[in-house]
Amino acid sequence: YPVESIRNFSIIAHVDHGKSTLADRLLEITGTISKTDRNKQVLDKLQVERERGITVKAQSASLFYNHEGINYLLNLIDTPGHVDFSYEVSRSLSACQGVILVVDANEGIQAQTVANFYLAFEAQLSIIPVINKIDLKNADPERVEKQIEKLFDIPRDDCIRISAKQGTNVEKVLQKVIEKIPPPQCNSADPLKALVFDSTFDHYRGVIANIALFGGEIAKGQKIVSAHTKKRYEVNEVGILTPNEQPTHKLYAGQVGYLIAGMKEVTEAQIGDTLFLYKQPVEPLPGFKSAKPMVFAGMYPIDQTEYNNLKSALERLTLNDSSVTVHRDSSLALGAGWRLGFLGLLHMEVFNQRLEQEYNMSVILTAPTVPYKAVLSSAKLIKWECRRHTLLYYFKCLLTGLHYKQEYGKDEITIINPAQFPDKLSVSEYLEPTVLGTIVTPHEYIGKIITLCQDRRAVQKDMLYIDENRVMLKYLFPLNEIVVDFYDALKSLSSGYASFDYEDAGYQSADLIKMDILVNGNPVEELATVIHKDKAYAAGKLLCERLKETIPRQLFEIAIQAAIGKKIIARETLKAYRKNVVAKCYGGDITRRMKLLKRQAEGKRLMRKIGNVEVPRDAFIRVLKRE
Ligand code: GDP
Ligand code: MG
Repeated sequence: YPVESIRNFSIIAHVDHGKSTLADRLLEITGTISKTDRNKQVLDKLQVERERGITVKAQSASLFYNHEGINYLLNLIDTPGHVDFSYEVSRSLSACQGVILVVDANEGIQAQTVANFYLAFEAQLSIIPVINKIDLKNADPERVEKQIEKLFDIPRDDCIRISAKQGTNVEKVLQKVIEKIPPPQCNSADPLKALVFDSTFDHYRGVIANIALFGGEIAKGQKIVSAHTKKRYEVNEVGILTPNEQPTHKLYAGQVGYLIAGMKEVTEAQIGDTLFLYKQPVEPLPGFKSAKPMVFAGMYPIDQTEYNNLKSALERLTLNDSSVTVHRDSSLALGAGWRLGFLGLLHMEVFNQRLEQEYNMSVILTAPTVPYKAVLSSAKLIKWECRRHTLLYYFKCLLTGLHYKQEYGKDEITIINPAQFPDKLSVSEYLEPTVLGTIVTPHEYIGKIITLCQDRRAVQKDMLYIDENRVMLKYLFPLNEIVVDFYDALKSLSSGYASFDYEDAGYQSADLIKMDILVNGNPVEELATVIHKDKAYAAGKLLCERLKETIPRQLFEIAIQAAIGKKIIARETLKAYRKNVVAKCYGGDITRRMKLLKRQAEGKRLMRKIGNVEVPRDAFIRVLKRE
């Protein structure tokens, strides 16, 4: 295939607007899959993807299509369908010259439509607007075309009205792809330059990297180098995706395909990396950055005897997902476990669900936290605090096998664990991660949504009517305010009509404090949290109340308190209770008495002693666990 007859494109859409259905239909029309596979959503491979109707891992396919006597090679590059993966979306898009933007004729433009449009627009790709589901009774393609014109400045006449489900006008979309999307600009005579836009792990063959060739050609036996890791490999196999791997002799500039080269971990073929031939280095493609976890949570086996099983399940699962970070951790209450880092909340849920479904593991996942930062003040204090911080951290790393990162001498430290919260005296500023959120909603919910956003310390950046009764709002959110239940709150107050998407927006200054929980005056390490000053009172009160409910009464009164430094901000009191287990069988049968005492001793094993107070493991699980 000469470069002029190649088209590399993606389909982008808000969730459920019909991306997978359209992709299936394109595969069918081009004879890539047979009609018997109909409605199987061939490109969504994982079970959780089918269930949730989202794409987690991009799946791509090469289509062969004859148009007006010319054979075209159309490479459909599937992108993940959720904000948590927006870095991966932008990487997959950089392998394309154009996109099909799918909008539901009934729902119109939604938050993800806006976010995806801008990713494609910024990458200077040709955009083919498609209005899907015109077969629906309530379809209003005219209205959606107006929205597209108003918000994206695309003439309404350019929109193609289709029904992916019934196949109406789908062929027109293919023709538009050929007409409107330019072929890739590259040359097989140049040195090899291949972009890794996805990678998966196969137990038999190792890492399978999906690549797009921006120059040169590649074949079995050649020696290649990763620009990111500088490691050298010999190519074992190359081929195209149809959508299953089909080996070919060579891949040429402009083509999209896969490569197997003895890479053992997906971290060796990171998304965004550039591959080149050994001894023929090229300028790497721009924009590479390692995926950076933004949401952290503790993971513990429900039963410690399951530790090793969970460990091997985690190892196998992370083989396929290099964006999850795993560090050993331990908690006095929950035992040995891990601290995991995820790209976002959905990523965390998907990971957890895969553990359950594919490995039959049930685990305790603690409430998620975000990475804060502290900027240290005077040089003297910096040294001292860094030394204290790094020493403490270093020992903790030694104990837990955490990947120790040298922070000494830097004036900024990252806090992913409240135990690392540096002393206020040595800190000039605390920083928290933020995101720019896009909300699209029918206008009747604006009032409630604005209140919700203000409640979450968000700052309005934009507000725009996209038609008479639909509004787009943009807010700058502190990330930690949306990681827990923002999406659910938004959905429930808008009866499900508002949609939400966000992108990384860097760090901002924040009034952070460390809140301790005290049980009879003794701090409970695992319940300490880093929190914004304004939120501490409410959060402290809630934690105390929940603890009061979950700790069983004991022989003496127990004070449960939340404190900032020395200042108590909330208190609950658990009244004393006299429990005499053996009283009931006083003078009774001795074996029964022994049995009861034994049961009590067993119960004690699961207790954690805080000062003189015994707290059952269950209580911690209930307080710490994500709802
Ligand atoms: P995705 O999340 O963008 O991949 O969306 P899917 O392709 O999974 O489609 C979401 C839902 O919309 C599925 O139930 C599809 O059957 C349905 N759907 C997709 N295209 C059409 C269409 O043209 N007409 C109708 N009526 N339903 C459609
Ligand atoms: Mg889909």
